Amino acid sequence: MSQEDPTCCGSGCTNCVLDVKPSKHTLPPDVVNVFDRTYKQFRCECVTPAADNVFRFRFCYVPAIGDEREQLIVPPGCHLMLRALRSALHQPDRKPDRSAEDNPLLRWWEANPVQPGGEEHAKQKTLEKHDKSEDDLYLSRPYTPIAFDQEHGTFDVLIKLEPGGQMTNHLVTLSAGSRTEWKGVYGDFLWTRNRYRHVVAFVQGVAIAPVYSTLRSILDDEGDETRLTLCACFRNLAGVLLRDELRSLAGYWNFAYAIYLSRRTCACAAAGVERCNCLAARLRYNEPIHDRRLAAAEIERLLQRPLADGKPSLLVLLCGTESFTSFIKSTVEKLEIENCYTF
Ligand SMILES: Cc1cc2nc3c(=O)[nH]c(=O)nc-3n(C[C@H](O)[C@H](O)[C@H](O)COP(=O)(O)OP(=O)(O)OC[C@H]3O[C@@H](n4cnc5c(N)ncnc54)[C@H](O)[C@@H]3O)c2cc1C
Repeated sequence: MSQEDPTCCGSGCTNCVLDVKPSKHTLPPDVVNVFDRTYKQFRCECVTPAADNVFRFRFCYVPAIGDEREQLIVPPGCHLMLRALRSALHQPDRKPDRSAEDNPLLRWWEANPVQPGGEEHAKQKTLEKHDKSEDDLYLSRPYTPIAFDQEHGTFDVLIKLEPGGQMTNHLVTLSAGSRTEWKGVYGDFLWTRNRYRHVVAFVQGVAIAPVYSTLRSILDDEGDETRLTLCACFRNLAGVLLRDELRSLAGYWNFAYAIYLSRRTCACAAAGVERCNCLAARLRYNEPIHDRRLAAAEIERLLQRPLADGKPSLLVLLCGTESFTSFIKSTVEKLEIENCYTF
C-alpha cells in the first residue's frame, strides 16, 4: 500500500509516533474498543491460502471479551500494527522452531515462494528510530483487517508474504495457537453515509483490503444508497483475492465490480493466439473477470458515467503500488475529478 506513514520507523516503539495524533473516529457511548492504541494479545486461530504468496490469517483476542460493551472495532479502511520481538525473529537459514514445524503450509511457502515478476517491488527505506530511549526491541508492520466476528472476538487479515521480508520471517513461524501482539487503530479515512452519490475504486492485489472493508461497510448500512463500482487488478486468476466475497456482494443493487488480469497464463497465450476461451471456461456464470490490463480508455469510460451526476457527487478510491495509483490518477486529473482518496 502506498501511503505508509513516513514518520513510523517500524520498530514498534513503546512511545509510538503514530499515537501522538488521536484517532478522528468516534465510538457510540456504550461501546469500548479493544483497540485502544496499546498492544493486545491475539492468538493465531488459523492460516489458509488465499492466492499466490497471500494467506488469510485469523486472530482471536486472548483475554476473552468479558465486558459486553467491548468490541473489536476497526473503522473501514483503517489498519492495525502487528509487532514481533526482534530477538524471536525466525532466520530462514536457522533450524526452524517448533511452531514453524507445526505449520506445513507456511513452511512449504517459505521453500517455494512465487517469485514476483514485473510488479513494482516494495522499496526499502530506513527511517530514524522515533523512541531513542529504548533499544530496538521490536519490529512492527501495518495490516488491514477485512473481516470480524464480534461474538468470537476474531479478525481476519490477508497478508502477502514477501520473500526476504522481516515480518514475513516472523509470520511464517505462526501456527494455530501462536501468540501475537496487535494495536490500533490507525488511518484517517472517514466515511459519512450518502456523502457521495458514487464511489469508484481502483485496487491492485492485496491492496484490495482497505477498499473492500470500506465498500463492505457501506453495503452493510441499509440507509446508505451510494452506488459503488470496484475495479480490481490482479496478475492472474490464481492471484484473485476475495473472489467469492465479491461475487456475493454483486447481489446488492448498488454494487458492481470488474476484475482485470494482467497476464494470460494459458497455452494459447504462450503460442501467441490473441484471443481464446480458456479463461471463460474457468469462470462462474456472469463472473466479470477479463484477461486484459485495465487501460486508460476504460478507466475514463468507467468514470464518465458517474460524472454525469456532477463532479462533487463522485469519490474515487485508490490503493496499490505507486506506479498503479499514479496511472489511475492521470485519468482522474484529466477528468478534473476533485475527490480522490489514496489509502
Ligand atoms: C497502511 C498499510 C496497510 C497495509 N496493509 C497490508 C495488508 O493488509 N496486507 C499485506 O499483506 N500488507 C499490508 N501492508 C504492507 C505490510 O505492512 C508490509 O510492508 C509487508 O507485509 C512486508 O513486510 P515485511 O517486513 O515482511 O517486509 P520488509 O522487510 O519490509 O521488506 C519488504 C520487501 O523488500 C524486500 N527487501 C528486504 N530487504 C531488502 C534489501 N535489503 N534490499 C532490497 N529489498 C529488500 C523484501 O524481500 C520484501 O519484498 C500495509 C502497508 C501499509 C502502509
